Amino acid sequence: MIPDSLRFRTRAIHVGNAPDPATGAVVRPVHLAATYVQPGAGAWGEYDYARSGNPTRKALETTLASLESGCGSLAFSSGMAAIHAVTMLLKPGDHIVAGTDIYGGTYRLLHKIVRQNQIDVSLVDSANLPACRQAMRPQTRLLWIETPGNPLMSITDIAACAELADQHGVLLGVDNTFATPALTRPLELGAHITMHSATKYLGGHSDVLGGALVVRDPQLYDQLYFIQNATGAVLGPLESFLCSRGLKTLELRVRAQSHTAARLADYLQGHPQVRQVFYPGLPDHPGHAVAERQMDAAFGAMVSFEIQGDLEAARRIVERTKLFQLAVSLGAVESLIEQPAAMSHASYDAADRLAHGISDSLIRISVGLEAFEDLRDDLEQAIPA
Ligand SMILES: *Cc1c(COP(=O)(O)O)cnc(C)c1O
Repeated sequence: MIPDSLRFRTRAIHVGNAPDPATGAVVRPVHLAATYVQPGAGAWGEYDYARSGNPTRKALETTLASLESGCGSLAFSSGMAAIHAVTMLLKPGDHIVAGTDIYGGTYRLLHKIVRQNQIDVSLVDSANLPACRQAMRPQTRLLWIETPGNPLMSITDIAACAELADQHGVLLGVDNTFATPALTRPLELGAHITMHSATKYLGGHSDVLGGALVVRDPQLYDQLYFIQNATGAVLGPLESFLCSRGLKTLELRVRAQSHTAARLADYLQGHPQVRQVFYPGLPDHPGHAVAERQMDAAFGAMVSFEIQGDLEAARRIVERTKLFQLAVSLGAVESLIEQPAAMSHASYDAADRLAHGISDSLIRISVGLEAFEDLRDDLEQAIPA
């Protein structure tokens, strides 16, 4: 047994990753079996069928539960499948309060799928606590937030939202994809559910699609496990293995990428063609003080900025970078660039997008592990002087 007192980086490597007892292999084999021999008819071993449980998936879930300070974790076939499972806790007549600055796909899931089941959704600026309080109704069952937010890097005070959620008897779910447990652990701050798109930093190499939930209440874990097993969107063994391997270097990557992102944010802030930079590490960012409190000595590796000019001008920049590859997604070792209005947030209604401050000239970068100087030079040649 690996003690919980070990530090984050040590647990990321050792918890859930004990050597294979059969062979001594330092890295356990990937278990591909779909079904398992049972001790007798009606008698069950630890594993019986791969949807219900798989040792490779279990290893990932064990590591992630430790890193997020939860009692258990569930790995899903995608981040959206993980969020969908959370929404399946709700019944017709229930109500969800969600942040305005959430992932475009979450917005679409809540508005186009969940709403069809007579579950009402209100969007609120989650960085504004009085607004969150005002949005609460007797029917509210779930408060769903993302911090840093997407794509404006708004910062929501998780501890304050947890207090509000407890006062109203609602679940607080935090999409922790951007911060990762290396920087923020929402369950320690009172959240009930932490969610990840493992496609991003947990996997970290743009080669796996996956999602995860982590909770601290065993009863809630059982409910979510039931939903996952009943609906079936589990993470496959190869994907689970890739995520487990990614977790081993998570903190190293996130800290190095955050460091480069902070330097690029400074550079962009001094650029005459840049109107505004959105990065919680900047002292003038409205969420800076809260970010300092709930993020561990770094502010993440996502930066957005608005340029002087229109949709076309922004499009020319994102099409001109060479190291920053033009693609949605984020969190991997290779840097990416995108235009939210045309790409990641195209699934928002245009009016909603503007109301939430996602302008046509906004550009979002995911800072990878390349050298700062090369990334800066790439932006320098792409943004007209
Ligand atoms: C990518 C992403 C999701 C969705 O995850 P998938 O793995 O693409 O299904 C949810 N939230 C955030 C913040 C994301 O970046």
